[in-house]
Amino acid sequence: MIKILANDGVHADCKTLLNEAGYQVDTEKIPQDQLMEKLPEYDVVIVRSATKITKALIDNCPKLKLICRAGVGLDNIDIDHAKEKGIPVMNTPAASSQSVAELAFGHMFNLARFLQVANRQMPVEGNTAFKGLKKQFSSGIQLRGKTLGVIGFGRIGQEVARIGLAMGMNVMPVDLMIDKADIHLNLYNRNDVRLSVTVDTHEWEEVLRNADFITLHVPFSGGKPLISTDEIAMMKPGVFLINTARGGAIDEEALLEGLNSGQIGGAGIDVFENEPTPKIEILKHSKISLSPHIGASTLEAQSNIGLELADRILAFFGDDK
Ligand code: NAD
Repeated sequence: MIKILANDGVHADCKTLLNEAGYQVDTEKIPQDQLMEKLPEYDVVIVRSATKITKALIDNCPKLKLICRAGVGLDNIDIDHAKEKGIPVMNTPAASSQSVAELAFGHMFNLARFLQVANRQMPVEGNTAFKGLKKQFSSGIQLRGKTLGVIGFGRIGQEVARIGLAMGMNVMPVDLMIDKADIHLNLYNRNDVRLSVTVDTHEWEEVLRNADFITLHVPFSGGKPLISTDEIAMMKPGVFLINTARGGAIDEEALLEGLNSGQIGGAGIDVFENEPTPKIEILKHSKISLSPHIGASTLEAQSNIGLELADRILAFFGDDK
């Protein structure tokens, strides 16, 4: 029988599908320091971002046939070593794109109407200084008609573009590899209405100079930040910056400087340089709308991830139970 350890948990639908196919799925978490002893009995390990699959651990598990990441980022898995050992590493890159795109817009809506500050001030002064707060937050903006810079026009970037187009925004993507993409706008329960728009990508600098909102959807695994002082200086004064990609893709010191000088109007940040202990100056800044790395954390995304993973594991083993 194929034994699977889902060490950071996995959606119940995934477990059910695998159980129905006769696989054993253990979801009780084994602490990292006990994995050397316990993981060798498993054929498959499923992790999210918490469990680390290191070179030493892979070397200690000769039975291991497959490593799965329930989600996108593979930073916690030594992929090169797994490859060397002939162990495939699977993830579920498409399952959470819609959820991440919606979160990026959540931050944009917050910033456009100062909701991140209003939500902090209303509980404190809402019944003593209502009129003052009303005045303080009455110069918000609409998103319709604004230019949306989408850095990275892959799966998530294209979902963001779909929402932006539907809202009447001028969508300007930039991508290293992609020149254009057809974006299909789907209306709820109206399969008879079909609207497809071809969206071209633009030069990096053109996007930085023209966008009112800039949202990042590129992979980033350390090194030089994509957005730092020079890039911020090129942007429109008052630009709104959103990072739901990876911490460090925007230089946090440069971001704080830009926010304090007014060059940046506000930022929506889901991912941080020092997770899980982000800089306090970022957490307390009134121009930052915050979330604790929850881009893919919706019920729908987790279910999609689970189903996609179960399908891929079943296809991998075929009839070989
Ligand atoms: P993807 O691979 O489909 O798209 C990324 C695109 O970025 C590619 O088209 C690539 O050509 C482009 N790109 C790479 N480097 C670039 C650069 N320097 N300039 C311009 N374009 C560049 O990836 P995706 O599924 O859209 O995911 C994007 C990122 O979102 C992931 O790498 C991950 O870090 C992040 N993510 C975050 C969460 C979250 O919880 N906040 C969840 C899922 C994914």
